[in-house]
Amino acid sequence: MASTKPCKNKVQDKVAIVTGGASGIGEATVLAFAENGARAVVIADIQDEKGQKLAESIGTNRSTYIHCDVGDENQVKSLVESTVQLYGHLDVIFCNAGIASFGKQNVLDFDLDSCDKLFAVNVRGTAACLKHAARAMVDGGVKGSVICTSSAAANLAGVRFTDYIMSKSGVLALMKCASYQLGEHGIRVNCVSPGPVATPLACKTFEKGVEEVEKAFQSSYCLKGVLKTKHVADAVLFLASDDSEFVTGQNLIVDGGFNFQGIPK
Ligand code: NAD
Repeated sequence: MASTKPCKNKVQDKVAIVTGGASGIGEATVLAFAENGARAVVIADIQDEKGQKLAESIGTNRSTYIHCDVGDENQVKSLVESTVQLYGHLDVIFCNAGIASFGKQNVLDFDLDSCDKLFAVNVRGTAACLKHAARAMVDGGVKGSVICTSSAAANLAGVRFTDYIMSKSGVLALMKCASYQLGEHGIRVNCVSPGPVATPLACKTFEKGVEEVEKAFQSSYCLKGVLKTKHVADAVLFLASDDSEFVTGQNLIVDGGFNFQGIPK
């Protein structure tokens, strides 16, 4: 009879990069990769102290923190090169670093300079990570997995956050193109799209504390309970692992059946 015990080594011996890995969804994914047998997890972020502490908590033989602003392509290139130098190759990248809208960003009051800044991280930054990671995988002959963070918000409309919603739709489009182009190299590209999770990003966006954010959205899920970073990390783990070896070009929405008409005011 097959065992029903969950396998704890889903990314055994894999070398992974997690951008935005010092906090929230990225941090939970770093820990999930480490717990699931990854040979090495490289934490890439701009929060140096948090990132370094996290790497130390895993063990410096299995985890490294590298400062990387994903908005700067040279830093992204160097992140990928350093990872390959340190660990020999790259199997997985979770392109997750992202920021929220500065201000309300209603169309009638659209601050396009702020929109540029947001796109520089959320879209251009994700594209830079995908590009350099995919090049390293092709050069190394690795049939790797790329996962990008979009958002359940990509399918929604609201009275604000226009640039954020645009950016996350852009990430979905990037993922589709990349999955099509990289399939011939055996590289899979997918997105994970979380509903609202009470991370520092969400708390800042909604100007609420963790409990308040969780309470505000609790009644919007079809499932009972609260969406946590671990739920998103589990989905990323699946997409990173060989359990999804014939899955590419997909957007895995992790939102407990989030069911509402628009982003609350
Ligand atoms: P978070 O603020 O906890 O984590 C984001 C991390 O990205 C931080 O550690 C931050 O320092 C890092 N970061 C920001 N700009 C960066 C840059 N230029 N270069 C490198 N790192 C940078 O927030 P989170 O909620 O865990 O966000 C992770 C991703 O999930 C983001 O892409 C976000 O848009 C997306 N997301 C979040 C939610 C949510 O409700 N929390 C929902 C859907 C999608």
